[in-house]
Amino acid sequence: MIKTYRRIPADPAEWFEPAEVAKAKEYQRPLTVARAISLAINAAFLAAIIFTHAAPRFADVFSKSSWIVRLFAVVIGFTVVGGLIDVPISVWTTFSHEKKWGFSTETPGGFVADQLKGLVLGLVLQIPLFLGTWAFIRWTKLWWIYGWATFFFFTGLLAFLYPILIAPIFNKFTPLTDESLGTKLTALANAQGMRIKSIEVMDASKRTRKDNAYFSGFGKTKQIVLFDNLLSQSHDVIASIVGHEIGHWKRRHLVTALLSAAVTTFLLFVALRFLLTWTTLLHWAGVSSIKDPAAIPILIVGFAVCFPVLGLFSSWLSRAHERQADLFALDVTDDYDAFVETEHGLSTRNLIDLAPSWWRYVRLSHPPPAERLELGKLWKAGRATV
Ligand SMILES: [Zn+2]
Repeated sequence: MIKTYRRIPADPAEWFEPAEVAKAKEYQRPLTVARAISLAINAAFLAAIIFTHAAPRFADVFSKSSWIVRLFAVVIGFTVVGGLIDVPISVWTTFSHEKKWGFSTETPGGFVADQLKGLVLGLVLQIPLFLGTWAFIRWTKLWWIYGWATFFFFTGLLAFLYPILIAPIFNKFTPLTDESLGTKLTALANAQGMRIKSIEVMDASKRTRKDNAYFSGFGKTKQIVLFDNLLSQSHDVIASIVGHEIGHWKRRHLVTALLSAAVTTFLLFVALRFLLTWTTLLHWAGVSSIKDPAAIPILIVGFAVCFPVLGLFSSWLSRAHERQADLFALDVTDDYDAFVETEHGLSTRNLIDLAPSWWRYVRLSHPPPAERLELGKLWKAGRATV
């Protein structure tokens, strides 16, 4: 039997034409370059903030004594400038690259609105987190344990509230109106014991022509969301996708992901404990003590260094979850042809990298298309099941 936690060897050439593989590469390559440039710019920005003592100087303008005022100044200043330096690359991606490939349907007005909403949301979420963390730092040496607990509680709360509080800021959600499809899909969910009022349709087409679906929330907020672009596909294909999303719920993947985040963020806070008490680093940043929120850029350096490393573990876990959800979809729909059509269609329409390098592979949240198709083939041969 197949182990879903291991990579399944697969040959893209068995499932895709060389032209399809090449086209996806041609689309993906400039995006990879853009990501590398963005990473370099952000790293240079962080280094500049630290070595020019920008944070303490900026905080001094507002207050030299109140740590709360200093914290607001540093977080707002950092978020606004940090957000602005990413704008040129986002503009290029949205209005040049994605338009050229026929994906982007974004308007300048929509783009500006998204950027502003993202900025405000970023501040609303970050300020209480930083306030909490610095209150603990100023109060106790065990701040890193309390900080971690706060961070974890917040992540769980966000995962719970995402469908009702965050997602509607950026998109409109309406219950699926196609009655025969709706009946088919809710029957599929109900048969697995998943009680949902409706399948939600998201107006993704206001930004992109790409199609997708996802599952989010838990308990009372759980929902399955289809991109409106997906509705032009056959009912069998949509059922296969919804079967996959039900699999994520049934196998409690969100809970497992949260528990694994608890472990990885604990390691992150252990690292932060050392970083923020490292006097040389504080000296470089022009901060006399970590009790001063002007040390926040050091914390952000810690996040920036640790997250990609810890992210390798969550990507590995996510790929296993995706394999399990694929097998689940095959089991509940018992429709191999629809599975192949779904996987083949989604990946070629959206120009997903069909033959990723190993370096790209280890950071993927989903196994590459050929691997998923290979898993389907093993399921058909009776060699893989959930
Ligand atoms: Zn999935």
